[in-house]
Amino acid sequence: MKRKRVLVTGGAGFIGSHLCERLLGMGHDVLCVDSYFTGSRDNISHLFDNYRFEVIRHDITKELFVEVDEIYNLACPASPVHYQYNPIKTIKTSVMGSIHVLGLAKRVKAKVLQASTSEVYGDPHSSPQHESYWGNVNPIGIRSCYDEGKRCAETLFMDYHRQNQVRIKIARIFNTYGPRMQPDDGRVASNFIMQALRDEDLTIYGDGTQTRSFQYIDDLLDGLSALMDTGDEIIGPVNLGNKNEFTINELAQMVLELTGSGSRITYLPLPENDPVQRKPDTAYARELLDWEAAIPLREGLQKTISYFETLLRG
Ligand code: NAD
Ligand code: UDP
Repeated sequence: MKRKRVLVTGGAGFIGSHLCERLLGMGHDVLCVDSYFTGSRDNISHLFDNYRFEVIRHDITKELFVEVDEIYNLACPASPVHYQYNPIKTIKTSVMGSIHVLGLAKRVKAKVLQASTSEVYGDPHSSPQHESYWGNVNPIGIRSCYDEGKRCAETLFMDYHRQNQVRIKIARIFNTYGPRMQPDDGRVASNFIMQALRDEDLTIYGDGTQTRSFQYIDDLLDGLSALMDTGDEIIGPVNLGNKNEFTINELAQMVLELTGSGSRITYLPLPENDPVQRKPDTAYARELLDWEAAIPLREGLQKTISYFETLLRG
């Protein structure tokens, strides 16, 4: 295997920190760039002793000049609570961040992978969502800073590829969970687990019949590196997600069962434009990458619950 210099933007976040660890384990040099908006030094502190690991505190809405062979562009808040906190900054991160990352890839001839999202499908009219589906996204809603930012990022990736022959990969990531999500992250898996472990009410938004397909972090890492390793003719977009779909009610029941918690359930209003259904069509990823998310929700939740239990014990 050729040792590569790999840049991970958003490397101190949930997915990014696992990816940095994985890439170091594969023998690569890793440069983690993060503004620490939603990520934290705690997520990567166990990597600081590794001389092949470097960290730069940097905001990707500003230009970056480094020498690397590959780039994973993960920088962007992913929880609705966090990306709606400063929506203008969120869209700047996706749009200006992508322009800077793509400019860098063009200069140094690096291969660059964009962490896109199932949110580009919006509130989908077809299920499961196939890569050919153009989506149903509200351009002026409270989720638009994220959804439209990510859609514009995909456009930028495609145009840098067509116009400047930049070697790109686009991964459309579906809901991913696991250790190192922030306890106050606001996303459903971490919320339910923290609430259950603290014997607080589980907060279900709406009637809980909306669905999501939850992928454990290890499956996603396998998918991301398989996609990065494909030949230059493969650009995607490729759905990376678990094809098993659950209602939010089912998720809540599973978390209660696995934690043995006495928590009850409170129903709160559904946030605006919250998608009703989300399930990836994974045929393309299977055919292209020989990859499929394999870790069942129950097993992934158990590992995530253990992580949060340890965190709470301090
Ligand atoms: P996260 O919030 O834990 O990580 C995002 C990281 O990006 C954080 O460390 C944050 O500090 C950093 N960041 C944010 N804005 C930045 C900026 N302007 N400059 C530099 N760093 C910045 O979220 P995550 O779940 O790890 O998501 C990582 C990526 O994967 C995001 O791009 C997200 O959109 C994408 N994604 C995640 C999921 C999921 O379910 N986790 C699903 C689809 C797509
Ligand atoms: N959700 C919920 N309770 C929570 C957090 C989220 O019922 O405490 C719901 C949310 O309304 C959505 C689903 O769970 O329907 C997934 O939300 P999340 O924020 O994890 O990600 P999304 O897929 O909406 O980006």
